[in-house]
Amino acid sequence: MYVCHNCEKEIEEIGNFVRCPYCAWRILYKPPLPVARSIRAD
Ligand SMILES: [Zn+2]
Repeated sequence: MYVCHNCEKEIEEIGNFVRCPYCAWRILYKPPLPVARSIRAD
């Protein structure tokens, strides 16, 4: 899944880097993974 850098809408599957179907922006990025940090409660 990718996120448009302009309108910040989620775009599910893209074969190559094409463009945003909403605003035609060409810069897309992957959102950060939810487990990027290692936080332990103890
Ligand atoms: Zn967009």
